Amino acid sequence: MTKVSIGLRGWRFEEEEVFDESGAFRPFTEMAPDTRDRIGRLMAIIDNPCDACWLIHGEEKQQRCRPATVVYGEPLREVVLCDTHEVDFLYWFREAGGRDLAGKRTFQNGFHQWFADGGRAPDGYAGIEHVETEPDLVPEPSREEATSVDDEIASLSEEDRESLDIDLDDLDV
Ligand SMILES: [Zn+2]
Repeated sequence: MTKVSIGLRGWRFEEEEVFDESGAFRPFTEMAPDTRDRIGRLMAIIDNPCDACWLIHGEEKQQRCRPATVVYGEPLREVVLCDTHEVDFLYWFREAGGRDLAGKRTFQNGFHQWFADGGRAPDGYAGIEHVETEPDLVPEPSREEATSVDDEIASLSEEDRESLDIDLDDLDV
């Protein structure tokens, strides 16, 4: 069983549950409800700006927000972040009470509030071992057609797919 991320790092899926042998998306009806919810939500948020950038720049300066590269939390209560702000999130999660909100409705608000109040990881906080991977290699589901998929994922080797994953089981909230 291989776990893969799709589009954004963070949420991971059983490859066999999401893709068929040819690498195409399975129909939603064949997926478990939780998987279906996550994939559906992922497609809605895949192009969102980073939550933390958004809190800093706001709607008027939206173009200054970096795109999200990682997602944490549960669908509809998720937090999406750029690489820079992921460190702040990890600090909040591990050291500033975020873990206690895992799976709760206040998860997203809790982080937003902490960040808006000036919460940041201290300088040099080692949030995460840098993942050596080309972001462009992370396959993206097509937004128009849920059943079609980039040929990219089919052409990825097992090893490449593994390297797209990050080991953050303690964050699997
Ligand atoms: Zn950001």
